[in-house]
Amino acid sequence: MADKIVVRFAPSPSGYLHIGGARTAIFNWLFARQNNGTFILRIEDTDAERSSEASIQGIIDGLQWLNLNWDQGPYFQSRFVDRHLAAARQMVATGQAYPCFCSKAELDRKRQAARNAKATYRYDGTCRALPPDEAAAKQAAGVARTIRLKIPRGGGAVQFEDRVCGRVVKRHADLEDFVIVRSNGKPLYVLSNAVDDIRDQVTHVIRGQDGLANTPKQILIYQALGAPLPVFAHMSLTLDPQKAKISKRRHGEQVAIHYYRQHGFLPWAMVNFLVLLGWATSDNREIFTPAELTAVFSLNGISRANSVFNLKQDDPKHFTDPKLLKINAHYIRSMSLDELLPLVAAQLKTAGLWRDAFDAQQRDWALQVINLIRGRYQVLTDFVTFGRAYFSEKFAVDPEAVAKHLTPYSALSEYLPALADELETLAAYDASSLEQTLRQAAKKWELKLGQLVNAMRTVLTGQAVGPEFLEMLIVLGQKRVVARLRNYS
Ligand code: GLU
Repeated sequence: MADKIVVRFAPSPSGYLHIGGARTAIFNWLFARQNNGTFILRIEDTDAERSSEASIQGIIDGLQWLNLNWDQGPYFQSRFVDRHLAAARQMVATGQAYPCFCSKAELDRKRQAARNAKATYRYDGTCRALPPDEAAAKQAAGVARTIRLKIPRGGGAVQFEDRVCGRVVKRHADLEDFVIVRSNGKPLYVLSNAVDDIRDQVTHVIRGQDGLANTPKQILIYQALGAPLPVFAHMSLTLDPQKAKISKRRHGEQVAIHYYRQHGFLPWAMVNFLVLLGWATSDNREIFTPAELTAVFSLNGISRANSVFNLKQDDPKHFTDPKLLKINAHYIRSMSLDELLPLVAAQLKTAGLWRDAFDAQQRDWALQVINLIRGRYQVLTDFVTFGRAYFSEKFAVDPEAVAKHLTPYSALSEYLPALADELETLAAYDASSLEQTLRQAAKKWELKLGQLVNAMRTVLTGQAVGPEFLEMLIVLGQKRVVARLRNYS
């Protein structure tokens, strides 16, 4: 039986969970779920100055919101420094690494000399050649030392087959004996990362292409420790429409997962969208249920080309990638009402439009409203902006709708209150009597039915467009329809 698949998401907690990080987490999570594998969350917090509690919490909240459940962790890398140092000692003991007593001043001098000669500086291996008794004497005398990994000499190369980037070859001659433990006794990140992956028996390292530069060094550490290599898959970058790397500096909060949560996106819509940044099926399908995605996901579908996140900053109606809005709208329209109701209720509460839990009758009514209006909505917040008239008497009226459907017809200030009287006394407030009343009224006042409907819709909901009109009148209810028409002047 093949070994169990183990993957990990290993964020450095120096900021919130961003689009790129979430995408990496999603790919790892999917791969684990697909293979009945293990998904580990490891917080790489060895750089104390750049790590923060708030960031750790933000990453955990973001992953939980996206429902990317992990099987092990969170492990905190900083708690395993002893393990990283023990690995370094092991490599020294087996002759794969050595202490280096060269002072910073000496190294700086050599670096400068190389620069002057326009040559590439690489550590010259002074201490690699140090006889063991001399090294021991320096150590005993307390001379500051780093630990360096011995790069094999003899013309070889580090080679591996990256599942996304293809064959990668790095000649040993192009690497120096790099430092794995600093003179202050702290392990370097490249060591901690590899040692943790070995210890956690990670079988597939799926991460961003920015990790690729470290991979040859990590492979050398694996080899020095006699550990089997994982499969590597380095994903391409996500760029903005101008082909610049997505970053907090350029794009502000729009790169943060919490931005999408605040703006009414559904967690699964987000996952569905992010997975399409740099991965596709052969038929370019766009919508997947979790089960479908887990079934069809494959590392082979990861694109080598960079993906583009079409951030739209200048258009308030399309404040993010249109494809993301489309996918979110799809889920709002098609998810079960029972699932959608609590999400809408949370929006209503945040907006101060609802305080208590729904009683059974209100629940039925709310489900009816939600079902009626959700067809046009893209984000959950639309329920409290465009949908406000269903939940409150204080709703904004779109000036364009007023200019088009109300202002040109001054007689409406007489007609609409008169219509309110008629609707109030209807024997049955249902679709057929409403339709009949409206037709008759339009005829009597020599208005086109459409004119009357548009005017009423604007007065009743503040907007020129909306759901099926008669259904809307019924869901809004006789009392509110009558009151709003009567108050029009
Ligand atoms: N901690 C690294 C980062 O946040 C990830 C390293 C890895 O996945 O190996 O960029």
